[in-house]
Amino acid sequence: MNALPESTGVLVVGAGPAGLSLAASLRQKGVDAVLLDRAAEGANTSRAAVVHARTLETLREVGATGELVERGIIVPRFTVRERDRVLLTVEFGDLPTDFPYTLLVPQNVTEEILLGRLHAAGGVVHRPFEVTGLEQDEDGVTATLADGGQIRAAYAVGTDGMHSTVREHAGIAFEGDAYPQSFVLADVHLDWAAAARRSCCSSPRRVSRSSRRCPAGGTASSRPSTRRPGNRPPPTSRRSWTRAAPGATPR
Ligand SMILES: Cc1cc2nc3c(=O)[nH]c(=O)nc-3n(C[C@H](O)[C@H](O)[C@H](O)COP(=O)(O)OP(=O)(O)OC[C@H]3O[C@@H](n4cnc5c(N)ncnc54)[C@H](O)[C@@H]3O)c2cc1C
Repeated sequence: MNALPESTGVLVVGAGPAGLSLAASLRQKGVDAVLLDRAAEGANTSRAAVVHARTLETLREVGATGELVERGIIVPRFTVRERDRVLLTVEFGDLPTDFPYTLLVPQNVTEEILLGRLHAAGGVVHRPFEVTGLEQDEDGVTATLADGGQIRAAYAVGTDGMHSTVREHAGIAFEGDAYPQSFVLADVHLDWAAAARRSCCSSPRRVSRSSRRCPAGGTASSRPSTRRPGNRPPPTSRRSWTRAAPGATPR
């Protein structure tokens, strides 16, 4: 646990990708900023594994894009299949950007890279500190923590996710709707004869058949997911992505 200072210029609440990017950027610009998170450590799962061109353009400013591209899988054409059927193909190769593709990289890796940029700028994540209250006055903000402590800041920024305490205390509504479907995701390693250059999709019962369709060999890092709409029966389809060589065009 890092001791919290009593005051700071900018208090950034929540050390997910948004908070880490902001804190790293502020520190790089010489702004006094404190980043805290209620979790004792960062999550280790893939979650937002698809990073788009605009994000890569933006994260270039904090110096994270080079390593992201190096550690991710470049996918200029994204294909989703079910058995022998192509369900969906999305082309990214013609985008007017330095990054004409989508990048597959697990969110925990993205966070690790952003944390590296924060450390390089002399910052840390203060854990575990939970903000439970926030009061604004003419000169700034006072945040109250779950342990009863307080920290004073000129500004507070809520990067504390979808159930944002900061947003609630700032009186900002969460507009919009939730999707009717729910999703089940699993991060798994599959030891199968998978193609090195394509994205695959298979039904849960036919993974081995899909493997035969995508022969290449090796251990693939894959991420099946299953969509479970409302009250419908258990999952009937899965999608997974296999490793593609950087620069390769998935078929
Ligand atoms: C299982 C799962 C699968 C997902 N899959 C995808 C996907 O396929 N594609 C996609 O685009 N997105 C996906 N997401 C969503 C994606 O992870 C989020 O959009 C992304 O993490 C948002 O980043 P963020 O920095 O805004 O907030 P978060 O990553 O949610 O970070 C918020 C941080 O704030 C901290 N925090 C919260 N409240 C407080 C408080 N009061 N005090 C201090 N700290 C606090 C939390 O501990 C957390 O570390 C998935 C999410 C989950 C959970």
